[in-house]
Amino acid sequence: MSNEQFSSTGRSSDIDNWLNSQNFNTTADIEIPEKLADQVIGQDSAVEVIKKAAEQRRHVMLIGEPGTGKSMLARSMTEYLPKSEMQDIIGYHNQEDPNEPKIRVVPAGKGKEIVAAQKREAMQRKQQKTTMLTMIMVLVGMMCLAWFIITMDTTILFVALLFILVIMMAMRYIGGNKENYLVPKLLVGHDDNEMPPFVDATGAHAGALLGDVKHDPFQSGGLETPAHERLEVGAIHKASRGVLFIDEINLLRTESQQSLLTALQEGKFSITGQSERSSGAMVKSEPVPCEFILVCAGNLDAIQGMHPALRSRIRGYGYEVYMQSTMPDTDENRTKLVRFVAQEIAKDKKIPHFDKAAVGEILKEAQRRAGRFGHLTLRLRELGGLIRVSGDVARERGADLVTADIVVDAKRIARSLEQQIADRYLESKKEYNTFVVEGDAVGVVNGLAALNGESSMSEYSGVVLPIVAEVTPPQTRSGGRIIATGKLGEIAKEAVENVSALVKKYSGEDISNHDVHIQFIGTYEGVEGDSASVSVATAVISAYENIPIDQTIAMTGSLSVRGQVLPVGGVTAKIEAAADSGIKKVIIPRSNLGDVVIEDRYMDMIEIVPVDTLGDVLENALVSCPEKESLVHKFTNIVSKGTEKIRPV
Ligand code: ADP
Repeated sequence: MSNEQFSSTGRSSDIDNWLNSQNFNTTADIEIPEKLADQVIGQDSAVEVIKKAAEQRRHVMLIGEPGTGKSMLARSMTEYLPKSEMQDIIGYHNQEDPNEPKIRVVPAGKGKEIVAAQKREAMQRKQQKTTMLTMIMVLVGMMCLAWFIITMDTTILFVALLFILVIMMAMRYIGGNKENYLVPKLLVGHDDNEMPPFVDATGAHAGALLGDVKHDPFQSGGLETPAHERLEVGAIHKASRGVLFIDEINLLRTESQQSLLTALQEGKFSITGQSERSSGAMVKSEPVPCEFILVCAGNLDAIQGMHPALRSRIRGYGYEVYMQSTMPDTDENRTKLVRFVAQEIAKDKKIPHFDKAAVGEILKEAQRRAGRFGHLTLRLRELGGLIRVSGDVARERGADLVTADIVVDAKRIARSLEQQIADRYLESKKEYNTFVVEGDAVGVVNGLAALNGESSMSEYSGVVLPIVAEVTPPQTRSGGRIIATGKLGEIAKEAVENVSALVKKYSGEDISNHDVHIQFIGTYEGVEGDSASVSVATAVISAYENIPIDQTIAMTGSLSVRGQVLPVGGVTAKIEAAADSGIKKVIIPRSNLGDVVIEDRYMDMIEIVPVDTLGDVLENALVSCPEKESLVHKFTNIVSKGTEKIRPV
C-alpha cells in the first residue's frame, strides 16, 4: 500500500494551497491586536471568563497543560481593571510602639511625593541643627581662645577641647538615625497613569509572597534601623488592586496557602518577620492592604495539592477554567496561528520575519504536535520556541527572512527533552545491537512504545521496544504461569490473558497450561507500555506455534479480548522512531490512521500498514509458511471484524 492516503504530503499540500490563498507575503504584513487578551489564541472561553472576572473582581483558577497561555491570560486581566483605583502604601514610625509600624494609604502617585517631602523636611531640620551646633562650637571656641590670651591659663584650653568633643558627639547623633524615624518608607508606589499591577508569585517563598521584616544586626544603641524602614512588602501587597498570579499553586506550602486565604478574605495582611530568630520577628505592622485578584494555575494535579479551603473559596467566589490543548484545524484558526507567528516575532524583537513558506512549516508542525487528526496544537510556548530557534538560525546565517528550509533545520535543533532522551536511547541500542532489523526470529517482536514526558501529553517520542516471548511446559503441577519482568509486567500479563482466550478459541488448547516468559529488552523509566499488547500477543503466538516473525517489521496497538486491534497514542512519533531504526514496515491500528502526520523525509523510508485484527497483524508479521496460512485462517474466522470505535489509550 502506498503511504499517500494518510501521509503528510496530503496535508502539506493542503496547507500550501491554503497559504497561497492568503493575503500576505511575510509576517511583517500581519497586524497584531493591541490588547493582550486579543492576542490569546484558541482559548476563547477562558478569555471570556477573564474579562468577566476582571469586571467583577473575581478570582480565577486556570487548569491545563503548560504553555497554553495561562500566565498570558492572567496578565491580560490587568487591561480590564480600572487604573483610578490604585493606591500607594506608606510605612511610618510608630512612636508609641516602634515594633508596630503604622501604615497609610494614599492615591497612586502621591506616595513618592509624600516621602520625598518628608525626607526634604528631615534633611532641612538636620541641617538647621547642625548649623546651630557648629555656630555654638565656633562661638565657644573663640571665647575660650580670648580668655586664654587674656589669662594665659591652660586649663581653659582643656575645657574648650572637652566642649568641642561633646558638641561633635551630638552632631553625630543627629547625623545618625534620629531623623530617620521621621522619614516614612514608601512600601508600594506607582507612577501616575501606570497599569494595574500584575505580579507573578510562582515559586515564591513565604517572605516574598506575604512580606517580611529585614533583620537588624544592631538592634539598639542609636545605630538601629527603625522597624518601619525594615518592612518589605510581599507579592500580595504589590498586587493590590491588580492581579496576583501563582502557577503550580499546589507547590506552595500549606501554611502559605492558609495565609494566602486569609489575605484573600480580609483584603489586608500585616507584615511580620518570617524567620523566627531574627529581630524582625518582633515586628508586626498594622494591616497592609492587599486587595488582589488571585489567578492560580496548574495542571490537573494542582487541584489535589491545593488547600481545600482555598479551592472552595475560588470555586465559591470565582471561576474555574480548563484550558484547551488543541483547536480544530479550520481556516479561521490557521489565520490565528499565522498571527501567532507574527506576535512571537514582535515579542522577541530580535528575530527576522518569516516568509509564507516558513509560516507553512510552523502550521504543519502545529498539526503534527496536536497528535489528533484535524487539530492544531495550542501548546504555543513550545511552538514559540521553534519560532525563536528558527529566527536565531536565520540570524546566524545572516538571512533577513526566515525561510522554510531554516524552519526545517531548526526543528532538528529544537528537539524536546523527551525526543533527545529517545535519540540517546536509540543510539545506545544501536551500539549494543539489542534489536535486529533484518531476518526473522521466533518469539521476537519489535514493539513500538512512546516516551511520554510528564509535562507533555500531546508530544510524544517513539522508541523501538524489543519483546521476547518463550512458551515452555509448566514447572509446577498446578498449571502454567506468566512470568513477565519489568515495569511493563502487568500489561504483559493482561495481553497474555487476552491471547490465551483467543488461542483457546481457535485451537481448543489452553496456553495457561504452559509457562509463558516475556522479556522486555532494555526497558526503562518513562516508557508507556499500554500500547505494547499487540506486540506481546504476537510474540507469544509466534513462540507457541514456532513460526518466525519478520524482523524488518515493527508494530504498535492495543488488543481487545476479542482480538481487535485498538488505537493507541503517539503513532506518528513511533513510526518515525521505527524508520530511524531501520525498520521497513510498521503495523498500526487502522483507527489511528488519521493521526499519522509523519515528516516528508520519512515517506520513502517506511511502509505503514493499518490493521483491524490480530489476524491481520499475524498475516503481516509472520514469515510465509504453511503453518502460518492455517493459523491466520483460523484467526480470521474467530475474530469478528467489528467496527466498534474506542478512544485511544
Ligand atoms: P502557561 O502559563 O500556560 O504555562 P504562558 O502564558 O506562560 O503559558 O505561555 C508562554 C508564551 O507562549 C506566551 O507568552 C505566549 O508567547 C505563548 N502562548 C502560549 N499560549 C498562547 C495562546 N493561547 N495564545 C497566544 N500565545 C500563547
